Amino acid sequence: MALESKKTKGLALLSGGLDSALAVKLVLDQGIDVEAVNFVSPFCLCRKGGCGASEVAKNLNIPLKTINVGQEYLRIVRKPRFGYGRNMNPCIDCRIFMLKKAKKYAEETGASFIFTGEVLGQRPMSQHRKTLGVIEEAAGLKGKILRPLSAKLLPPTDVEKKGLVNRETLLGIEGRSRKKQIRLADELNVTEYSCPGGGCLLTYREFADKLKDLLEHKKRVSLKDVQFLKVGRHFRFGKNKIIVGRNEAENGLLLRMKMANDYCFEAQGTGSPITLLQGPKTSAAIEKAAELTAYHSDKKQGDLSVRFGRGGFNKLLRTPIPSQKEVENLRVTSQKAPAQFHMHKNWDGSEKLEK
Ligand code: SF4
Repeated sequence: MALESKKTKGLALLSGGLDSALAVKLVLDQGIDVEAVNFVSPFCLCRKGGCGASEVAKNLNIPLKTINVGQEYLRIVRKPRFGYGRNMNPCIDCRIFMLKKAKKYAEETGASFIFTGEVLGQRPMSQHRKTLGVIEEAAGLKGKILRPLSAKLLPPTDVEKKGLVNRETLLGIEGRSRKKQIRLADELNVTEYSCPGGGCLLTYREFADKLKDLLEHKKRVSLKDVQFLKVGRHFRFGKNKIIVGRNEAENGLLLRMKMANDYCFEAQGTGSPITLLQGPKTSAAIEKAAELTAYHSDKKQGDLSVRFGRGGFNKLLRTPIPSQKEVENLRVTSQKAPAQFHMHKNWDGSEKLEK
């Protein structure tokens, strides 16, 4: 990493949340140049991607580099060295991964240091004092990550020791409460920090159940496999995955996303979901997919005809409607469909309730 430049430049990890926006403002206010990186993973909840980071960067008038992480990131999620948080979120490994990428980018762009919006003690897994040290060490950035919001509670970083950053104007915020940050946002006139619909799917139980099932049943997971996890109700039948659309939009999505070998199912003569059958097309698997389609159709009793096929719906099967118990036994997750409201978490640790 370049240690000297005409004007000191810092590289911010910008999530789009309040904390990282404030961290940028604190550093900018010292007359330091700032560039930001934002990571977009296959597990970002934000529909647009980037969790609003581009709006925040624009508002703060700093350049932003978006880094999409894909297959490489999936390997971390499959086998994290430091384990998972409450669900399938490998937060420590995730941060190490992203900091390593940021380090490389800082070297390319001549940034003297990296800084984040982390707040000591804000997140159970990755923002404990000890963990921050572990992350720094593993990312090859010991003493080189500035955390402007909690700096006064942490040992001075190299850039503070060198006088490139003035420690005196940094803060000593600790804990999960956001009150101080909200007050500070007012004082510093940081207005753009929302993240509509953002967050990390790995922290959600229902998604984590689906991902766990996928990793257990598939050695080589593709980004498309992950996309499928975001759509429909998921059922496991041996080597088969059966996905049933939950609404009109998901039905259309499943038809568009379907792989060449997937079979599609649809009940005849009644309102019906679209169902995809993935894996070996045994007669038992085809029957199960037809039953699940029938169960989720508008018909609630008796039996009905289900059309199915690979290229089109050119085959027909008469099937009974299975019991709820039979259906629940196949369901990948025991959880209900995602709540309408969820806690949005940015990767810098900020949280808020989102629809
Ligand atoms: S919650 Fe944040 S740190 Fe944890 S895995 Fe997700 S993006 Fe990474």
